[in-house]
Amino acid sequence: MKKIHYPEDRTAFEYSYWQIFKESGLQTEWTRLRRKLIAWSDSPDKSTIYPDQIQDVICGKYEILVDIYLDYKKIKKNKIGDAEWVTLETDLFSLFSYNASKEDHSHAFQPEIAEFFMGHAVELELHVCHYCELAYVNAYGFSGVFKDFGRFLKNATEGDIRHYIRRADGNPYSDRIIGDVVELQKKYSEKQITEAFNNIGPWGGKEPKKSETIAAKLRNHFDLDHFLPKSQCPIVGLSLYNLVPSCAVCNEKLKGADEIGGDDRAKWLTLSPTSDSYSFDKEVSIAIEPTPTDFKTKETPEKYRLAFSPKANKYEPIIREFLLEERYNYHKCEALRLHDLLVDYPKTRIKMIKDVFKGSKTEKEIENDIFGVEYNQAYHRCFSKMYSDIFQAHYKQDC
Ligand SMILES: [Zn+2]
Repeated sequence: MKKIHYPEDRTAFEYSYWQIFKESGLQTEWTRLRRKLIAWSDSPDKSTIYPDQIQDVICGKYEILVDIYLDYKKIKKNKIGDAEWVTLETDLFSLFSYNASKEDHSHAFQPEIAEFFMGHAVELELHVCHYCELAYVNAYGFSGVFKDFGRFLKNATEGDIRHYIRRADGNPYSDRIIGDVVELQKKYSEKQITEAFNNIGPWGGKEPKKSETIAAKLRNHFDLDHFLPKSQCPIVGLSLYNLVPSCAVCNEKLKGADEIGGDDRAKWLTLSPTSDSYSFDKEVSIAIEPTPTDFKTKETPEKYRLAFSPKANKYEPIIREFLLEERYNYHKCEALRLHDLLVDYPKTRIKMIKDVFKGSKTEKEIENDIFGVEYNQAYHRCFSKMYSDIFQAHYKQDC
């Protein structure tokens, strides 16, 4: 619904994202796995589809990711049930590891990726969910990720323990100390493990507690949806231009691993808010139907509904996937309220108010004070497209 606003200087932005991964030594494994993918792909462009450098997969433009995704799915179809394929896919999952899993001891990058988006929140204009504009995506703390330190520690992989539990100067602890922490997972429950952890090793009994300093580092998080589902193609699991800041309802409850673009390249390119071709705002508008003739629509809300129009538009799959009509209609009163205000304060009345202000406010400023449409856009508030569409439709009618 809302296109992601990337910084002007994409090169610097991508370079800064790459810093998360550059020391992780992913290239060697990618070179090995890429060779297999190329051997199994039928595409004449296979050596360009799978870039030689892993950096070009992680920071590559969204179009590159779509090509990888579609070719990968084709190979997968042909190789179904093949043991070699199962091994390759497992290796790819641990190479492009976004979430930590118990079985996999590799390091998961999700916390650093979330931190990166937080660090660029102003440039990226991260405020509302990019799929629905119905919820804010502000950082909601460590508890949003792991509930608490105990849950993190009980479920962390050895790789994560090694990565997050470090000396104050950032250097790693010895294998023996890491081993002691891993041992705690077997002995203690989620409730007891934090206390036991704070009493071991070189940090035992010190203030502030070790668990608190680590939790403070992990505090920022919000949902990042993989537009091309990583469960279908692990290669796009860490890619910058596959990540959409979204609310938990859109990400977890509604979209999950759904493949909105199917096998259609053009569809994938049109529908992702990370794509240069994304134009939801231009193609679709939110309107009150039927066009109100009442002055006080708020008094008879049952006569109206909010519709995404025109009915047939290329963003239908998005409107359906994220239940936008249903969810917006739940908040219909917001739209009706604005409509009624627009009726109560036509241009002629705004002009009269302007006279009262004796030149200290322009008509535009008064409009903004009353209707708040510009404010909602400038401050990236929820419903800002809906307000703006209703406002514009009203003035079109007025003229
Ligand atoms: Zn949402």
